[in-house]
Amino acid sequence: MKRARADHKYIFVVGGVMSGVGKGIATASIGKILAARGLSVNLVKVDPYLNVDAGTMNPTEHGEVFVLDSGLETDQDMGNYERFLDRDLGPEDYMTSGMVYQSVIERERNLGYGGKCVEAVPHVRGAIVERFERAAALAKSDVTVVEIGGTVGDFSNALFIDAARVLKMKYSEDVLFVMVSYLPVPSTIGEMKTRPTQHAVAALNSYGVQPDVIVARSTHPLDQKRKEKLAIQCSVEANCIISAPDVDSVYDVPLNFERDKLSDILLETLDLQPKHESDMSDWRRFAAHAHNGKGTVKIGIVGKYFDTGDFVLSDAYLSVIEAIKYSAYAAGVKPEISWLNAKEYQTNPKAVSELAAYDGILVPGGFGETGIEGKINAIRFAREHKIPYFGLCYGMQLMTIEYARNVANLAGAHTTEIDPKTSHPVIMILPDQAEKLARKDYGGSMRLGAYPCVLKKGTIARSAYGAEEISERHRHRYEVNPEYIERLEKAGLIFSGKSPDGTLMEIAELPKNEHSFMLGAQFHPELRARPLSPHPLFNAFIAAAIQKRI
Ligand code: GLN
Repeated sequence: MKRARADHKYIFVVGGVMSGVGKGIATASIGKILAARGLSVNLVKVDPYLNVDAGTMNPTEHGEVFVLDSGLETDQDMGNYERFLDRDLGPEDYMTSGMVYQSVIERERNLGYGGKCVEAVPHVRGAIVERFERAAALAKSDVTVVEIGGTVGDFSNALFIDAARVLKMKYSEDVLFVMVSYLPVPSTIGEMKTRPTQHAVAALNSYGVQPDVIVARSTHPLDQKRKEKLAIQCSVEANCIISAPDVDSVYDVPLNFERDKLSDILLETLDLQPKHESDMSDWRRFAAHAHNGKGTVKIGIVGKYFDTGDFVLSDAYLSVIEAIKYSAYAAGVKPEISWLNAKEYQTNPKAVSELAAYDGILVPGGFGETGIEGKINAIRFAREHKIPYFGLCYGMQLMTIEYARNVANLAGAHTTEIDPKTSHPVIMILPDQAEKLARKDYGGSMRLGAYPCVLKKGTIARSAYGAEEISERHRHRYEVNPEYIERLEKAGLIFSGKSPDGTLMEIAELPKNEHSFMLGAQFHPELRARPLSPHPLFNAFIAAAIQKRI
């Protein structure tokens, strides 16, 4: 039967066996290898939970909240997508069950269904199909790669898989399915087992969906014998089963995929002409740095860490870690990152003095009171001992507070987030944000997304960016209080970045002749750092840290 042709090709990535095996990185890598063939690609993340966006979720449990230019608060996978593709993604590239249901329910309340009984199938499923098509149309890309969160067989992602099936019905040649599965090697047996993946494919088949490609994640490479067994059991051609063993660096994954000619397989199956041979020379050069940087630069990240293993921790600060890596790699060194618990520095001066061992200190974004005085003590130490310091969002606000208290003689200066009755509210909430908080309207209640910022001549920020106007992403409620700007500037703090109307302080820094790099940004520069274009402020911070080391 001849089917309609879509204007775009779709690749759906679904997970088999279990979660947490790198489906996001596999999706980002598929995007990367197709983009390296000269095609335009957008990546879409489906999160099956009922939260309308990721903004209300705890990062220590769920990983970082990644903010797009539009201000949408999304899952950390969107950060990986943007970094691998080196492309900004739009709000239509992210969807949750909550978001889809909300729009369907709103439409129902507005009599948008003409008196019909509104049901998950066909209405919610139909809304999902529309979203898939809209994401492809708005991005105007040749290929839209959609990662469906969760694992096949889950209750909560079933409608999304069914919507993908419907799209396949509509445009059969233009839709392809990849299953990222896991092949365990139980230590008691010492042999890789294919059976769980066979079951996962059977579960996908029960939705009426057959995978075209299987990405076989495991601790070990997949051998020919098991590849053939999977091929026959799962009805997938052996060359379409890609071996994906564990790697030290996620940036090697696209290179490994191409070793198995995955872009050729995808393009052939979709009947799509590439613009050229695979060009990943820049990426290959970048990825090699992860293995052979010369020397190290020691960065201490002072944050509030509790009850978390390293794994979860690094997920909560994923973009910060990656941003540090990119700038360190570009400078030819490897970063050695230490997690420093801010609480340690609250009352123990000896612990604070140990910060002298670091080449650079960073205080990332955060909320609330835990460890706050410890962070302020660490910032003071960095300022007084001329250790390069980089403050991100909360780290900028706390740097301003430290300066107000200890240099500008504003005793007791604080943020009203912690002390609403402070004698000197140098950081305060802007009136419209205060209104939302009073209403307990927390979802999307912050200053979110990209805002322009004008840089002052002759400052560290201006020379780092090499531009007068920049745009950066925000996620915060509090701001530097305009009433204190003059006093802080008189005391020597430079507000080197401001909103174009001059009312919002975006970057604070100390003069370069006083301190090689003492700078805080009200925004989150880490959200804009990319492997092939490291962030200018991280570059400047790492350069100062390397300088200090020598
Ligand atoms: N808690 C601060 C605020 O809301 C900083 C937020 C952040 O670091 N992202 O303004």
